[in-house]
Amino acid sequence: MSSVHYCFQCGTALTSRILEGREREVCPACGWVHYPQLKVGAAAQIVVDGRLLLCMRASTPFRDTWNLPAGYVEADEPPARAAEREALEETGLRVRARRLVEAVYFDDDPRGSGILLVYACEILGGEPRPNAESREIRLFAPQEIPANLCGAGYREVVLRWQREGG
Ligand SMILES: [Zn+2]
Repeated sequence: MSSVHYCFQCGTALTSRILEGREREVCPACGWVHYPQLKVGAAAQIVVDGRLLLCMRASTPFRDTWNLPAGYVEADEPPARAAEREALEETGLRVRARRLVEAVYFDDDPRGSGILLVYACEILGGEPRPNAESREIRLFAPQEIPANLCGAGYREVVLRWQREGG
């Protein structure tokens, strides 16, 4: 179920117990309970002339699939800032997050399940350029959306955008 096997408080190996109606990892020495938490990601929905910006991932997992510029939110960072930061890192574009458009759950990422917060972003400046994280950066009209999209969360967001006609 989880990769955590030792107590966060005392270092004792955790054991599985039924607690609050489900199996949880519990420390037999001090009673500490491991509650797995969802990861939080932030994504930038950038639309230019009715076309959606997608990046082709250069690294695993989901290498060679198209996704929105996105990444994990740091613990000391508001998610809207994370979307702006990831957009800059992955596309070279400076953007401003204008509004939260969607929150989707994903459970198909080998690094863990999570919530993806999607922000409609406006371009402030910069030029799109491929980099270590994005092999290719392109704009897609609704009818051009590629089939090889990144994981379930991104797929849900992109297909919703496509369904709504961009
Ligand atoms: Zn313990």
